This record gives sequence, structure tokens and C-alpha cells, in this order.
Amino acid sequence: MRYAILGDIHGNLAAFEAVLRHAGDRGGFDKIWCLGDVVGYGPDPHECIERLLQFEHVCVAGNHDLAAIGKMDTAEFNPVAALACHWTAQQLAAEDIDYIQSLPLSLCQDVFTLVHGSPREPIWEYLLSIEAAQDNFAHFETNYCLVGHSHVPLIFELTGNRAAYRMFQEGTNLKLGKKRLIINPGGVGQPRDGDPRASYVLYDTEARTVYHYRVEYDIPATQKKMAEQGLPMPLIRRLSVGW
Ligand code: ZN
Repeated sequence: MRYAILGDIHGNLAAFEAVLRHAGDRGGFDKIWCLGDVVGYGPDPHECIERLLQFEHVCVAGNHDLAAIGKMDTAEFNPVAALACHWTAQQLAAEDIDYIQSLPLSLCQDVFTLVHGSPREPIWEYLLSIEAAQDNFAHFETNYCLVGHSHVPLIFELTGNRAAYRMFQEGTNLKLGKKRLIINPGGVGQPRDGDPRASYVLYDTEARTVYHYRVEYDIPATQKKMAEQGLPMPLIRRLSVGW
């Protein structure tokens, strides 16, 4: 089986389509594992949900998904994120809201646990430090865990009871071994590692490998749509720089 593992689409249909096309050109996939935040920030929240639903997939809820349907307060969001969230809420159809309602906070697939933020705090925690990762290894039972939320492609590895981490570089074919791992495939719709290209991974169960890809997409097209909808300028600009 081959799984396309991706997260943080954030209503960016152009980026999502580019990833789907890219994966399709590389032998395709059987199923999508989505790590949440399908909506929020970008100009096509409804279309992104609609597109995801066309594939066999599983998905966990992200903070922006829940905020967009009023299941989470936007008080913790920065002002531009909150503005985008309120705009997003107005774009969702009733079936989109039902879909988001149905999303679990975490789930197990094969040898992986899937969450949006972290196993300890599935919605809010950003896994960006060794200390945070070290504690989080005790909060899931599978050998490996997949997270999103930070939009930064990272690999956390546990050796004995010590964690270490490194960037998940483009073109890395990560071989799954005995060591426990927490993997972030990076973000599709709003990368934040200084590389504006969409980020995702393909997991091949037979080879037991996870391959990291970066994909160019039409950034100006997404920015134009955002401007037309009056979405905040900082959110439009950041797409050009991947931050
Ligand atoms: Zn996100």
C-alpha cells in the first residue's frame, strides 16, 4: 500500500492540486492520511474539503478546522488568523461543517498514530523542540507518530530514552526501523520552513519507507484569490517566502 501523508492544506486548493498531481505522476497512492487544518488562511476552504472527500482517506481535526465551525475559541489565534477564521466560517457549507464535526483528534493507522499538534495535546501543541518531543514519545503506543501543525518538515527520533531531531530534507527516503519516530511531513498550503513549495510525504508499506517531496505550485494564483476575498495581507505575503 502507498499512502500520501499530508497536512495543513489550509484552504489552498492550488497547492493541494499540485501535490495530488505530483503524487499521481509518481505511481499514485491508495489512500490519503491527512493531519488536519484542511481549512483556515487560504481562499478555497470548501473546495479543499470537497476535493479531499473524492479520495479514500482518513483525517484528524486541526485547530483551524475546529475554530472554523465554532468548536474552538479564536481568542488564542493571532489577529490575522482570527480574521481569516471568521471569513472561512462563512464559506463552509452545511456538509463541510458535518464533515469537520466528524473528525477525530487522533487515530491509529498501520504502525502510525496520527494527530494534528502532538500526541499529548492533539490540537494546540507545536512539536518543535527535543524536550517537547521527548515527553511526547510516552503519549502514543504505536512505533511511529505523524504530526502537522508547525508546517515544518521534521523527524524526531528516540534512542533509548533520548530524543533527537533533524529537518526532514527534500528527497530523503526515510527507512522505518526499530527506533520510534515522530514525523512531520511539512505543510501543503502554508509552508513555514523558508521554502514556499508545498510539502508532503509518500509512505510505502512494502518498502517501509517514507519519502519527502516538495512541489511547486501557482502561488500568485492563490494570492490573487486571497486578495479578491479581502484576506489579510500578511497571510498573502507569507506564501511567497514560505513563512
Ligand atoms: Zn496549520
